[in-house]
Amino acid sequence: MQEVSLGSFPATSGEMSDKVRHFNWAATPLGPIQNWPQVLRTTVELVLANAFPACLVWGSDMIALYNDAFLPLLGNKPEPLGRSFRDIWSEVWADIGPIAARALAGEPTFIRDLPLMINRRGFSEPAWFTFSYSPVRNEHGQVVGFLDTVMETTESILAQLRTHELAASFERQVAERTADRNRLWQLSSDIILVTRPDLAVVTLNPAWEQVLGWTECQLLGSSVLDLVHVDDRPLVLAAAALLTRGEPVQDLDCRLRDSQGGYRWINWAAVPGDGFFNAVGRDVTVDRERAEALRQAEELLRHSQKMEAVGQLTGGLAHDFNNLLTGITGSLELLRRRIAQGRFNELDRYLDAAHGAATRAATLTHRLLAFARRQTLDPRPTDVVQLIEDLRDLIRQTLGPTVVLDWQPGAAPWTVLVDPNQLESTLLNLCINARDAMPDGGHLVLEVHHHEQSHPALTEDELPPGQYLCLSVIDSGTGMRPEVIERAFDPFFTTKPLGQGTGLGLSMVYGFARQSGGRVRIESTLGQGTAVRLYLPRHLGAAQAPAGPCAAAVARPARMGETVVLIDDEATLRMLVAEQLEEMGYQVLQAADGVAGLALLQMTGEVDLLITDVGLPGGLNGRQVADAAARIRPGLKVLFITGYAEQAVIERSNLEPGMHLLVKPFAMQALTERVRAVLDA
Ligand code: ADP
Ligand code: MG
Repeated sequence: MQEVSLGSFPATSGEMSDKVRHFNWAATPLGPIQNWPQVLRTTVELVLANAFPACLVWGSDMIALYNDAFLPLLGNKPEPLGRSFRDIWSEVWADIGPIAARALAGEPTFIRDLPLMINRRGFSEPAWFTFSYSPVRNEHGQVVGFLDTVMETTESILAQLRTHELAASFERQVAERTADRNRLWQLSSDIILVTRPDLAVVTLNPAWEQVLGWTECQLLGSSVLDLVHVDDRPLVLAAAALLTRGEPVQDLDCRLRDSQGGYRWINWAAVPGDGFFNAVGRDVTVDRERAEALRQAEELLRHSQKMEAVGQLTGGLAHDFNNLLTGITGSLELLRRRIAQGRFNELDRYLDAAHGAATRAATLTHRLLAFARRQTLDPRPTDVVQLIEDLRDLIRQTLGPTVVLDWQPGAAPWTVLVDPNQLESTLLNLCINARDAMPDGGHLVLEVHHHEQSHPALTEDELPPGQYLCLSVIDSGTGMRPEVIERAFDPFFTTKPLGQGTGLGLSMVYGFARQSGGRVRIESTLGQGTAVRLYLPRHLGAAQAPAGPCAAAVARPARMGETVVLIDDEATLRMLVAEQLEEMGYQVLQAADGVAGLALLQMTGEVDLLITDVGLPGGLNGRQVADAAARIRPGLKVLFITGYAEQAVIERSNLEPGMHLLVKPFAMQALTERVRAVLDA
């Protein structure tokens, strides 16, 4: 055993050993270090040699003495060596004082993780300690102090607390989320569905019952595909394939059968996850029905716009048809009479006339029906000049007798790729607009010319470079104010009274021009007229074969007996009436329009009767001719021959004495009887 000299006490080494060795113990209740009893010296060396934190508390004054390992526990506390244990831990004395007292009374203690609010860094903080107080006795068995071996457990306790807290908050979050999800699941008015990849229903939310009338029990395990409308199944299967590949599905519309056997439109969003498909669906039946109703209404409106044009035409057409029918029945009547008379040499003429009129009527009917039919855009190589030729009769009828149609085909042979029916619609709409702008009559010019656009288009509205056929509809009407031009192409923009304009004509023209790869322009001067120019891209290639033109009827002058001036623009009718009257011994002078008729009345010596159609081309209608004739030849008898449409107008304006009315179609017999009656009256 090593001899330890007094001077080298304590024999241990380290910071605390040095301090203990050199501390002025004489100033403490322990007294000078060389006077310490053996038990104290032994215990001190035990403490200092210990690598665990340890503190020796000695005597009733509880003088503290500790080792290097104990230092970190003390922090910045004032130098504790040789001071009272009670002073050192004054802030927690209420907690540890009783334990210390018990130790001094001979009772050892072991306490695990005792929490204490200590102050070792200038502020209060929680700290945890596991410690043991063991009494130290002298050779007489008296307790002279106690040994405090201690482990600070603050770090591990805090770590534990943090994990607990985290765990608690995590649980809280999970609980909240689950509650949220449950609330969503329960309250959602959208239907929510979880299926297996084979589309078998795993679970669904209560909204299913409200939306489709199905409960979870009814559908559990069955394939959701059974509910899908057969037409939509391929779509749903394609979506399932996407989900199987791990991709989400957005905006899928399909119809699901409800418990009543009806179908609802559902808009789906779905994602795959954890081996299931999760889908949320919204009932969009009402939206779709609304959209469909809107589409139908628009379709109807488009159609009614077209029908409006048809309506505009039918008035004129009735007149035209009556003329043609009169031509046919008249020809047949004459034919029968010639046969009865045994005069077979001229039968061909009447046959030709009847046939011509019938063909013409058929062409008109065909055009009208083609126009009225609902058609989708079907672009075909089209010869615009031929199209206008074919449409000329309709246009003329549309314009009425007060507007002069000026149509010069010119040299514009380029073919365009358009839907011919739409082009007809467009042309008729433009002509109707022109007519409406010329309530007191005027001129309508139809022009077709070539147009080359070379410089690039700067705006979307400009014509892209290329070759175009330009079709112009030019009227001498009211013209348009700049603010009207500005808005003219807007759907539903109209300046016409309610019931007369839909405001859709030009918007359709605009749509047609754009869809055909062209543009439409308006040039207009207020009070002078308007030109609407339609630019259609040139098509390289031949046009489709057009329909053959109508057979023209033949007219022939005649003379003898009483003189009748006959004005009618329908040649066949004019011929038949003239021949019939000539047969009866009248001299008949014919004119095709009001101006020519009036000239005849002025030039001819004796005129007994004026027979005139009411609707006439050339700027003067039948009524105006009759009024003018009455001034040239007072007392001249007049017989209006007119279609049903104009009859009302003439009757409303009160027929003056000497004026009579015969409504078309009429039999030739009826005509001659009526003429005789008027002349004899
Ligand atoms: P609507 O003819 O039913 O009124 P449109 O779209 O065909 O509808 O025309 C819109 C408006 O443009 C017309 O109400 C009219 O004011 C004006 N407009 C169209 N064409 C002409 C024209 N040739 N002359 C004068 N104004 C016109
Ligand atoms: Mg219009």
